[in-house]
Amino acid sequence: MRERKSWIRVVDDGLTRRGFVTGAAALAALAALSRAPVARAMGVLPAPFPPPFALGIASGEPTSQSVVLWTRLAPDPLNGGGMPPVAVPVKWEVAVDEAMQKVVRTGVVNAVPESAHTVHARVSGLAPDRWYWYRFIVGGEASPVGRTRTFPLPNASPARMRFAFASCQSWDAGFYTAYRHMADEDLDFVVHVGDYIYEGGVDPNAPRSHDGPEPKDLPAYRNRHALYKTDPYLQAIHAKFPFIPTFDDHEVENNYAGDRDENGSPPDVFLARRAAAYRAYWEHMPIGSYAVPVGPDMRLYRSLRFGRLAEFAVLDTRQYRSPTPCDSELSDCPARFDPSRTMTGPKQEQWLLRTLELSPATWRVLAQQVIMAQFNLGLIVDPEGTLFNLDQWDGYPAARNRILGHVLSRGISNVVVLTGDFHLSFVADLKADFGDPASATVATEFVGTSITSGFPANLTNLARAATALNTHFKFFDAGKGYVRCEVDRMGWRSDYRIVDSILDVNAGIRTLASFHVEESVPGAVRI
Ligand code: FE
Ligand code: CA
Repeated sequence: MRERKSWIRVVDDGLTRRGFVTGAAALAALAALSRAPVARAMGVLPAPFPPPFALGIASGEPTSQSVVLWTRLAPDPLNGGGMPPVAVPVKWEVAVDEAMQKVVRTGVVNAVPESAHTVHARVSGLAPDRWYWYRFIVGGEASPVGRTRTFPLPNASPARMRFAFASCQSWDAGFYTAYRHMADEDLDFVVHVGDYIYEGGVDPNAPRSHDGPEPKDLPAYRNRHALYKTDPYLQAIHAKFPFIPTFDDHEVENNYAGDRDENGSPPDVFLARRAAAYRAYWEHMPIGSYAVPVGPDMRLYRSLRFGRLAEFAVLDTRQYRSPTPCDSELSDCPARFDPSRTMTGPKQEQWLLRTLELSPATWRVLAQQVIMAQFNLGLIVDPEGTLFNLDQWDGYPAARNRILGHVLSRGISNVVVLTGDFHLSFVADLKADFGDPASATVATEFVGTSITSGFPANLTNLARAATALNTHFKFFDAGKGYVRCEVDRMGWRSDYRIVDSILDVNAGIRTLASFHVEESVPGAVRI
């Protein structure tokens, strides 16, 4: 406790030193200091605030020589953060040992009110393919120590890669039992394919409740991200492994498509909301400055290379997609086949096709949001029936065909698609022609379940039945958890790790099913 008061004193003392203490002068001082480079330390003021690192620390965006370190100074996390409106210098340290005795890189970043006192420090000049430890220091208060790692050199041939992918961690659906177990895994990194937060309001019957009504502006989205980041298991998993995140819909609003929300708001109204949501997302994720939003636009898609073993194309299938076709989201109509419809936008699509074709890596991985495989729910009632969830790639079949057709025609091998969104587990073959079971399998899709988010119990059996009728699907499960992947040059293994309960954070976990993809042989085989 002794050191606890010092960090905020730095901030408050920056105000008193300049002699602005009350009234209009104080307001002027606050305005001036918020543009000032730093606050300065001096004097003694009471420090009734909790420690500044109440939202934890994180790292992400690993390359062979750099990582991004993240934290946010937030003594009052759920009410705007509680920081005075001044810039605060935050020191970061990177060491080669957990005790932080051998510091190899250090620097100072200003946490500014314009970014909710979040910190994004890009640390360069690191050695490839090794673990590091890091922490932040503000006013004599040190954060907990986190662990992170760099990727191998682009032309290196690492023997193996282990990671987990996760999605859909609705706070009010339950507890992060899955992250508690994930922290015990031997992983190199974690991929998050979206629904990191949910935008829903307060549900009094939920196991734990959201902080307030549906966020629509920047302060409310910041508070929502802060709520999620107060979870000790989410903090622990971030402190243990670097993250590679992308968003899906709930970071903004359920099932939005480009500039359209699900309520039919005018696009300019929704884009203002999207701008706030993207801003808060960027602020709270360990991602690089390339992604700093400009108004409602945010460049999130990018690729990361794990040596010559794997290249991850991390996709954004929300921001640039055409509006949902047909009359309702669960339906079918000829309009969904319109070749001008896009899931990624033309620019991202061209980039993806190039990345797939030119990557020298053995495995070409799409880390993305919604189910890519055709999933005809109409087969449940009629062998000739057609009924699709048009929020998925089934709403964009021409775009899907362009990508899978490209993989097929260029002979691109070892394409693996990682998917979230559905809150159920699946494994699927991605076919050259989904209408013809005898057609070539082009790529492999693993749909992870959710960390917590629910799927309606009364529809689970229908989803199971549909899985059996869509014969390119090979696996179905309704449990919660994540997928652990172990990859080498000869093969890819995915383990579906399923927790016993999300209502008891101490519940156990088991590997429910494992699948293998052999190098150059698309399609997963159950082990
Ligand atoms: Fe979700
Ligand atoms: Ca979703």
